[in-house]
Order: sequence, then C-alpha cells, then structure tokens
Amino acid sequence: MIILMKKSSTQEDIREVTAWIESAGYRPHISQGVERTIIGAVGNDQGRALLKSVAFLQGVEKVVPILKPYKLAGREFQEKDTIVRVGNVEIGGPQFTVIAGPCSIESAEQMMESGYIAKKAGAHILRGGAFKPRTSPYSFQGMGEEGLKILKDVGTKMGMPVVTEVMDTQDIDLIEDYSDMFQIGARNVQNFALLKRIGMSRKPVLLKRGMMTTIEELLMSAEYILSGGNNQVILCERGIRTFETATRNTLDISAVPVIRELSHLPVIIDPSHAAGHAKYIIPLTRAAVAVGAHGAIIEIHPEPEKAFSDGQQSLRPEVFYRLMDEVRVLQDAMQNKIGKLS
Ligand code: PEP
Ligand code: MN
Repeated sequence: MIILMKKSSTQEDIREVTAWIESAGYRPHISQGVERTIIGAVGNDQGRALLKSVAFLQGVEKVVPILKPYKLAGREFQEKDTIVRVGNVEIGGPQFTVIAGPCSIESAEQMMESGYIAKKAGAHILRGGAFKPRTSPYSFQGMGEEGLKILKDVGTKMGMPVVTEVMDTQDIDLIEDYSDMFQIGARNVQNFALLKRIGMSRKPVLLKRGMMTTIEELLMSAEYILSGGNNQVILCERGIRTFETATRNTLDISAVPVIRELSHLPVIIDPSHAAGHAKYIIPLTRAAVAVGAHGAIIEIHPEPEKAFSDGQQSLRPEVFYRLMDEVRVLQDAMQNKIGKLS
C-alpha cells in the first residue's frame, strides 16, 4: 500500500502515519520527493483493514494499493531514479559507471597491477573476488580474508572504492570491514537468507540476475534487500541461459529498458560473464551504453592467460584502454547528440 501525503502535510503528520502503519503490523518506508512525501507500507496482509483506515489521518491525501508483487523496487513507490553512492562514485545518474578488475584476487602484485590498469583507464570502481563461486570444488576458491586485505589496500592506494562477492551470511561482517559494496552473484540471487541478512546492512549491494531468473524474480530478490531497510541496490544483467552455445550465456540486452521502466533502481551490464570471451566485450559494452545502462562491470587481468579464473573473458590492458575510450565517445554521443534530438 502507498500512502500519498498532502503537499501541506507536516513532520508530525508523517510521524503519526508511520506509527499507524507499524501498529497495523506493517513496515513504513518513506520516500521524500521534491513535492510531497510518499510512505510505503510493506508487510503481509493480515492488518490490511486496519491499515486502510490510515486514510482518515491528518495529512493523508490518498491510499493506493501497489499492484506489482515487488513494492519498494517498483516505480509505483518511487518515480525518480535511485542514485546509489559507492564511496565517492555515483551509479544511477547520467554517468556511465565502469567497475573493473580481475575475476579473482590472486596476489598483491596481480591486484596492484590490475588496480593500476583500472585507474589509468579511467574506471570508477575496482572489483576483485576473494570468495569465489566455482562450479568445481577443485577450482581455485579465492584467497578469503587475505584477498580482502589486498583489495582494500589497492583500492585505497588508487583512490577507488571496491566491490567483492559475498556468498555466505557468515562472511558478511568480515566483508563489510573491507569492501565498499557487496556483490551477490548469479548463483545466490535467490539465496533468501543471504538477501535478508544483506538487507540489514547499510552498504550498497550489486545484485546480479541469475542465469535462470526472470526480471520479475530479480526484482523480487531486490525487494528482500529493500524491505530490510537497505535501499542501496544496483541490479546487474549478466547473461541468462538459453539454447545458444556460441557464448557462455546470452546477454539479455532488453532487460535494461524493461528494468528501467519497472524499477527506479540503477541497472548495469556484465558483458564478461554474459559472453565468456574477451573478443565480444567491446561490442557488448557499446550496446550497454547505447541501451541506457547505468554502467558495466568488466573483468580485466594484466596477463589473462595466467588468470586463476575467467581468463578467457578477461581483457588485457590495451583492450581495456580502448574500451574506456569508446565508452567516453559513446557516452558523449548519447548525452549531447542522441539526448538532444527533438
Ligand atoms: C563474478 O563476478 O566473478 C561472478 C562469478 O559472476 P556471476 O555471479 O555473474 O557468475
Ligand atoms: Mn568471473
């Protein structure tokens, strides 16, 4: 249920409405617009009758049901785009934000070199996996806490915020100390215990679409995080499984305009895990800029042939420099040429 407050409503009115929502067994989520305040009441439907009478309180203009199954993630609750801040970087605004780094943190040297390449190219956020979700238990599983220390250290030296994946609720406190943003990977998009626990954190979350999840299911997963009180969620399209075998997954480029229509949350593209091969990353990133994504997450490596994971899809330095040059040209065209066509 959405409670639209009158333009003339006071802070006291808002307080009374939120208290009413809570007494009906719902959780209030306030969205402060420029013109007026909207309060979302989220919960299971037991106190629905009581909740509806909130309409009689002072300062309430109207009460409307939210029709979509996701409540806080939808445009009905919040019309304007959410901008998520990761350190000093914004995602969700006009800038095309690039997150870059190796699939796995392998050593201090490899991470330092990767950080240097990312910084030199003009990327905004540094990535690196310390806990890796590998298909085989015999594959490299990540450096764990030692890797987190390296990532944080390189991020600090480069003046870049960092992101790393969390796979287990028991690692959240540890990762929170080292990382500016959590990544929840494709395989954990419906790990509801993890989503609920991350919802209790106030750190931004990069939530990847699963290879078998629909857009609606992705938004419902985001809803778990938002309903816990963490509204710093970025969605990521990273390719889904189809019958096509030429690429690792099939990049669902149409997910970007669809998500932008349905949700106010920022949406980025991961061409690396979608394509699975370095040679397709530049063309797919071009598409990401053109389709209106808020950014991209790209795997790079100083020496991809020696990478412990995902070397095939990792860009070598010169290719990444080229990609960033192209992003700047395309972003300029989108903002100053395409955006200005009448
Ligand atoms: C990754 O980012 O390295 C990763 C494992 O991604 P995904 O969850 O999209 O497969
Ligand atoms: Mn990877």
